[in-house]
Amino acid sequence: MTTLAIIGGGIAGRSLLYALSSHHFKYEEILFFDSPEFASPCALNSTAIVAPRGVSAGHSPLGDLILEGLAIFKQHCEKDHPAGVFPISQYTGALTKLDQFARRYPTALKVQNLGEIKLKAEVLFAEEEAFMIDPVLYLPWLTSQAEKKLSIRHIREFVIGLDKANSTIMTQNKAKYSADHVVFATGSMSKHWKDLSTHPKLNSSKAIQGSYLEFSNIHWELPTFSITLEGCNLIHRKHSGKVLIGSSTDELAHNLPPIQELKRIYELLANILELKLPAFDLGEVKVGHREKAQKREPYLFTEGNVSFMGGFYKNGYSLSLRQSKSLVDQLRELV
Ligand SMILES: Cc1cc2nc3c(=O)[nH]c(=O)nc-3n(C[C@H](O)[C@H](O)[C@H](O)COP(=O)(O)OP(=O)(O)OC[C@H]3O[C@@H](n4cnc5c(N)ncnc54)[C@H](O)[C@@H]3O)c2cc1C
Repeated sequence: MTTLAIIGGGIAGRSLLYALSSHHFKYEEILFFDSPEFASPCALNSTAIVAPRGVSAGHSPLGDLILEGLAIFKQHCEKDHPAGVFPISQYTGALTKLDQFARRYPTALKVQNLGEIKLKAEVLFAEEEAFMIDPVLYLPWLTSQAEKKLSIRHIREFVIGLDKANSTIMTQNKAKYSADHVVFATGSMSKHWKDLSTHPKLNSSKAIQGSYLEFSNIHWELPTFSITLEGCNLIHRKHSGKVLIGSSTDELAHNLPPIQELKRIYELLANILELKLPAFDLGEVKVGHREKAQKREPYLFTEGNVSFMGGFYKNGYSLSLRQSKSLVDQLRELV
């Protein structure tokens, strides 16, 4: 019997389940460990836009990986029509360092409206093809699709130990599970597994706090969109009547959000957009911890019977699928 254990049920772990199921590659059983009660998934506290963000091919390994991830994600959307994924325009603009911005976004133009959204003044903006993901819909969709083809045992326990010699997994309940191969897709929690490997990417990875405000019951007569101005995001999720404003990033190891920074972001957007934003105090603060590895590059490596997949900092939603497909190829060689 061949058993695969996947530890982590964020976008990385679920993209792997999905990739395994869509490649018709079967383990007899998959032990799928996830314990949101112990570690809140960053994937559920994410603005979750995937977009090229001015990246062009041939300039950096990360840039090329981002573009490859986007192409794979686009193909996935066109072929599989996943729940909770919406094609959108990503509008990215700048008020400062305009020359630098124009080099990154050669198609940027000074405009006074972004589609149906009016601006209070002319601002340099670029428009890109992108996807808005609603994690509340997309994450369960991935699992439900995988469950149609794979035998998945969902174990809602927190993994506290792995004996590499015999691939025995221990959980907080003192339960033990055996697997032929173990994949860690534990997001910012991966930092606790550094003693299992000397790989430089895993060892240099750290948790970065991100936060944003989520406003509910918003009924704008506008399509779903994402605007990023000077790094400040405004996202309208029409289907759920939500508006997200943020997001701050900081090397904080706790869940207390930097309210002053969120206020600054809110005011910058309110000063430029001809949109009546909901009152600041009505926003529910959301906090996530994402994993930042060296050069913000995601990692994927296998050592013996253990694989690590993580470091999803930007475009985590598309890069997870790209890395999962590569991991499936690696696992196919091993079985
Ligand atoms: C504010 C903010 C905005 C963001 N914006 C975007 C964006 O616009 N676009 C984008 O693509 N990405 C964005 N990201 C990043 C994106 O959310 C992450 O890349 C992604 O969520 C990482 O997914 P993951 O599966 O690696 O980790 P997570 O989502 O954190 O999932 C890890 C899972 O593993 C489980 N786990 C951990 N340890 C154990 C254990 N020992 N035993 C059992 N279970 C365990 C946890 O409970 C969790 O469910 C943003 C992040 C933040 C915080």
